Amino acid sequence: MHKLTDNQSQKNIPTMATVSIVKADRYEYEQVYNAVKRSVELIGGLKAIIKPGSKVFVKINHLSPPTPAEKGIVTNPIFVEAVLNLLKELDIDITIGDELSSYNIDGFHISGFRQMCEKVGVRLTNLREGGFVECKCHGHSLDTVYISKTVLNADIVVNLPKFKTHSLTTITGGVKNMYGVIPGSFRSKYHGEYSNIKEFSQVLVDVYSVIKPNLTIMDAIIAMEGEGPASGKLRNLGIILSSRDAVALDAVATSVVGFNPKRILTTQFCNNRHLGVGDINQIEIVGEKIADVSVADFKAPLAFTSLFISGIPSYLPKFLIKHLAIIPHVIERNCTGCSECENICPTGAITVTNKKAAINKESCIDCMCCHEVCRFNAIVPGRSIIGILFHLGSTIVNKLRLFSSR
Ligand code: SF4
Ligand code: SF4
Repeated sequence: MHKLTDNQSQKNIPTMATVSIVKADRYEYEQVYNAVKRSVELIGGLKAIIKPGSKVFVKINHLSPPTPAEKGIVTNPIFVEAVLNLLKELDIDITIGDELSSYNIDGFHISGFRQMCEKVGVRLTNLREGGFVECKCHGHSLDTVYISKTVLNADIVVNLPKFKTHSLTTITGGVKNMYGVIPGSFRSKYHGEYSNIKEFSQVLVDVYSVIKPNLTIMDAIIAMEGEGPASGKLRNLGIILSSRDAVALDAVATSVVGFNPKRILTTQFCNNRHLGVGDINQIEIVGEKIADVSVADFKAPLAFTSLFISGIPSYLPKFLIKHLAIIPHVIERNCTGCSECENICPTGAITVTNKKAAINKESCIDCMCCHEVCRFNAIVPGRSIIGILFHLGSTIVNKLRLFSSR
């Protein structure tokens, strides 16, 4: 069992954090390099965080199955190249990677990371090659968790999330990106065992508590809105954010797109468990102001409007609670029969027959893993007819209440 180091323990309770925001409107190397450099300098610079001779692991966001960078699903390789070149100016040992569950194909080649890392001269690894070790967790839901040996052996972890919406957890940013340091099989297993948003968010925070990154730099140049993290629409936010506190960074990124960080469960649970600062009033923002980079009408995933489900009264009949959840629907005309959804489903609810996926609603737990892996927009989140009617009714009631209270 791996013993936690002081660096990874929860000894120091954070009360204040600093997050930088720097503009960069497109993936043009010089511009991105200068923006990343300024963004890190604004929070004290790399030398204040990384000592010479350190072993540094750089965690990218590289979903499986792999996709070309221009789809906006992975951290952009040009952004990562800029970070790597800055890191290379220090006398350190760098490894970069993520946990890829693709078989028989080089996912890093498809996204462009293989070519970029060869050009920069940095070691690129699929975390499953280095193996995993069981660590004490003392979490809310998990007592132990398997973490990548490559990540545990690093002195410093640099976290490079891409800012996207997420059909289950509303956003995926700095905290959720660290979920990729555990084996893919466990990611799927936890989805099955901890199926509602509240439970699953606590699991994400449990993993984060074991392997808090030392530095997070977020690629929010082109983000994803709507039904992310793989099927949403690309949206230019034109910013890069940096912080030593990924929780605070998520809170700021969330505020930029007009969502309330108090409604992002991973941010709130981390804040409550003293793993970072989730209260926007306790965060010092340097560089650009939120008001100067905020975007109007950033499209939230359906999950955002359904978060009230986590506090739903227990006296409601079970069937109604089930209908209020966001559920996956198959769009047959888009389905290629690739079976990625069938392979990831933690409950075996999907079968692919004659190249068309079908979902058994009885065994589905609404974890949305199938939506996340489908690269053909053939699985979309939605509500049942009863759920739509109930949601419509509650929206009208809320509006009437608001109107009568004026
Ligand atoms: S629904 Fe998507 S992931 Fe599943 S078989 Fe069809 S195309 Fe593949
Ligand atoms: S069908 Fe999709 S949402 Fe339902 S349990 Fe399987 S992976 Fe999760």
